[in-house]
Amino acid sequence: MTDPLRVAVVGSGPAGFYAADALLKSEEPPVEVDLIDRLPTPWGLVRLGVAPDHENIKAVSRAFEKTAARPGFRFFGNVEAGSSVSHEELLELYDAVVYTVGAQTDRSLGVPGEDLPGSWPATAFVAWYNGHPDFQEHAFDLDTKRVVVVGNGNVAIDCVRMLALTAEELAPTDTVDDAIDAIVKSPLEEIVMLGRRGPVQAAFTPPELQELGELAGADVIVDPADLELDPASKNALEQDRERAKRNFEILREYAAKEPEGKPRRIVLRFLTSPLAILGEGKVEAIEIVKNELVEEDGRIVARPTGETETLECGLVLRSVGYRGVPLPGLPFDERACVIPNDKGRVTGAERTYCAGWIKRGPSGVIGTNKKDAVETVEQLLADAAAGKLVRQGGGGSLEELLREKGVDFVEYEGWQAIDAAERAAGEPRGRPRVKLTAWDKLLETGRKLTSTS
Ligand code: NAP
Repeated sequence: MTDPLRVAVVGSGPAGFYAADALLKSEEPPVEVDLIDRLPTPWGLVRLGVAPDHENIKAVSRAFEKTAARPGFRFFGNVEAGSSVSHEELLELYDAVVYTVGAQTDRSLGVPGEDLPGSWPATAFVAWYNGHPDFQEHAFDLDTKRVVVVGNGNVAIDCVRMLALTAEELAPTDTVDDAIDAIVKSPLEEIVMLGRRGPVQAAFTPPELQELGELAGADVIVDPADLELDPASKNALEQDRERAKRNFEILREYAAKEPEGKPRRIVLRFLTSPLAILGEGKVEAIEIVKNELVEEDGRIVARPTGETETLECGLVLRSVGYRGVPLPGLPFDERACVIPNDKGRVTGAERTYCAGWIKRGPSGVIGTNKKDAVETVEQLLADAAAGKLVRQGGGGSLEELLREKGVDFVEYEGWQAIDAAERAAGEPRGRPRVKLTAWDKLLETGRKLTSTS
């Protein structure tokens, strides 16, 4: 049998695990995978992005646990590619490196007032309620009657829904205690979601839209006038196979329904863009403009009409998409915010590959990353078969290098200790887990087992 191929996968979210799985399934050559993550915990957005009340979606982590149990798999948490270990060092240690780092920041709106306290990227809000250790100090002030969420994707819907959940709905989730407290105690009466285009162009998906109508503590309000379509949207709806049609039916039901007088109102508005976020030292209002839709280069785009309105609000969440960031030592496409690649082979970089959002941009559901990662692994294995993966370095291991550098890495057993501690803390409270959210606690718990194993 040939010597195993040694591959480093950087980023332990879905794309990383799917890539690791596809690699570890290879028999000829056999492959060993070291999966590296800057956090002490694996699973990326499955742990820190998927909404806590979507426990069934988070259950995909069970498949990742199976991958981690395969021979040849190792996890190195608390290791940041670029600072703990450079790309060049990885190329010396491994036959190939696969980057699956996702899209680590948010896109900006480009309107005045965007940086006022109380105006946040939705990505930060999501990271906060999910217990990301870098976002626990963020002070999300929910002491307001109205929150405005800008954007019409599933992340916007997640934020809207989380803000509307009742104490009973939050209780069985792994939402962090501070967030539960803030959401439940908030005097919030209205959550407004702004779509810059019309209902037919909305990016959210029907199950997520439908869920809003099933909440115990919030009515969903849609203005029937927003469902009167321009000819281009009408045509697009007729051509649509599923998503827009189903979304539109659900929105019609909402528009026809009398509000039940629940404590909070979710107001879905369309054809509306923010012009400015206003306030003295903090968010106090948002100025919005009515849009109309026009066709431009075969695409239906929003154009402001000049009709403006100011909405008082104390918090603005900007949910207009995630954005990939450049990695030291790697090429980057500044326009698309991805690593330039051909089916996962990084352009102009030897033995380097990418998969997931950093390869194709922030789109699709978790499962989309499987096909994407498999495509990348196929290129990698083809290159191995063609003799293109020739390592220059003199061997050694990542573990030795990290110990030399004094990097306090967390292995998979360390993560299992964190996982067990969190589950044990959740059990008496009827919750799946109570997350460890502080770096020192995560490292301390992860280290205990690493040192005795
Ligand atoms: P997304 O689906 O790309 O939605 C982004 C939204 O922001 C779009 O409605 C877009 O409108 C709007 N937008 C962009 N720039 C804007 C601007 N300047 N002003 C106003 N609106 C603007 O992104 P996402 O919601 O971040 O989700 C990322 C991916 O994760 C998606 O594939 C999503 O389905 C997935 N996800 C899935 C789930 C789930 O399955 N439950 C949950 C969360 C996320 P335009 O269309 O006009 O550009």
